[in-house]
Amino acid sequence: MNLAFTEAEQAFAGEIRTWLTNNLELPPAFSSLGEEVEWGRNWQAQLATDRWVGIHWPVEYGGRAATPVEVALFNLEYARARAPQPVNRVGINNVGPTLLAFGTDEQKKRWLPSILDATEIWCQLFSEPGAGSDLASLSTTATKVEGGWLLNGQKVWTSYAQWARWGIALARTNPEASRHAGISYLVVDMQAPGIEIRPLVQITGEAEFNEVFFSDVFVPDDNVIGGVNEGWSIASTTLSHERGTVFAFKEQVVHEVFLTEAYTLAQVEGLLDDVETSDALAQSFVEVRILRLHNWRALSRLARGEEPGSETSWIKLFWSEMSQALSARALNITGPAAPLWRGSENLPGDGKWQRQWLWSGAASIAGGTSEVQRNIIAERILGLPRG
Ligand SMILES: Cc1cc2nc3c(=O)[nH]c(=O)nc-3n(C[C@H](O)[C@H](O)[C@H](O)COP(=O)(O)OP(=O)(O)OC[C@H]3O[C@@H](n4cnc5c(N)ncnc54)[C@H](O)[C@@H]3O)c2cc1C
Repeated sequence: MNLAFTEAEQAFAGEIRTWLTNNLELPPAFSSLGEEVEWGRNWQAQLATDRWVGIHWPVEYGGRAATPVEVALFNLEYARARAPQPVNRVGINNVGPTLLAFGTDEQKKRWLPSILDATEIWCQLFSEPGAGSDLASLSTTATKVEGGWLLNGQKVWTSYAQWARWGIALARTNPEASRHAGISYLVVDMQAPGIEIRPLVQITGEAEFNEVFFSDVFVPDDNVIGGVNEGWSIASTTLSHERGTVFAFKEQVVHEVFLTEAYTLAQVEGLLDDVETSDALAQSFVEVRILRLHNWRALSRLARGEEPGSETSWIKLFWSEMSQALSARALNITGPAAPLWRGSENLPGDGKWQRQWLWSGAASIAGGTSEVQRNIIAERILGLPRG
């Protein structure tokens, strides 16, 4: 096995590293999430100007047709520079690839360009109060009227709905059909009459998620992606991009950086000789390394042109547990001062350790819960009978 990058791949990594060195200004401390989103829009527009957004997209739609290895290298360099995640993540990672695979030429021309420069933010209207892991039990309906559909129902956990211009929604268009058969994939104008967005305050004190209510919201025929009642297989494409393996490359470096910070913090606090602290840091070091090895294996498959396999579930599960453990260990090092920790030259401050720990709880829910990942591992990797 040859784990070295080719000269062209190294040059590619050098190009993004240089660009980030010349262009990245780390974000200031924000007083609200709204302020952070505005900052994020400008940063993403700057990235898009030099085609550093959606690099896996085809060149004709503003991407670079980057290979899986180039995407991984980009993610590694991006995370290493501590660059903030692009604000239009749902648009770039979920909507874009879905439109490229199933959208008409008109739909691609209308929506793809404004995803990349973040002039139009997108949200994902899939989960409902009674449909999360079991998404096919969704009950939002779209009823046929002249020229389009009337949408009625409720979605929940919709990240960034309050800033979104468009949303991808799953709705039941044939209530008579079997669970998976009567679902369509619609693009919803988030400014249309009949939409109510209610932010949900999460444990960090921010309101990133929302409940979204639809009362007779009109969706034109032109906004159906793929065929009517064919939404389930299209949604599977969206979710496979959301749960893809490449995300873990960014996470690997994010956690390497995080671990270095936790180590420095322990040093500053004079805790490196404390057995519990050094054991905890060593354990996290091993875990972050294991994630790296899993990533290499997954990348080798992708580089050979193979589809990501069930190891996606294994990586997702391992990553979420590793991330939660490291966050808890870092919080233990800060101790009761966590909310007040002001940071220093090399360390994040303003309660960021505490915030990281609070956020880490989401890792085992978003993108498929740990229990669901364990089911997939049991059935598809270990060959156990369906439970
Ligand atoms: C950070 C974050 C961002 C999100 N953003 C969005 C978004 O933008 N758009 C969107 O549509 N959704 C979003 N979600 C929602 C997310 O997709 C759901 O939370 C997830 O699919 C789980 O669904 P649920 O919350 O309804 O839990 P449920 O599916 O109700 O699960 C409840 C519990 O039961 C367990 N469980 C369920 N089924 C099984 C089973 N078959 N076997 C064993 N145990 C099971 C689960 O593991 C869990 O512990 C987001 C969630 C998070 C945390």
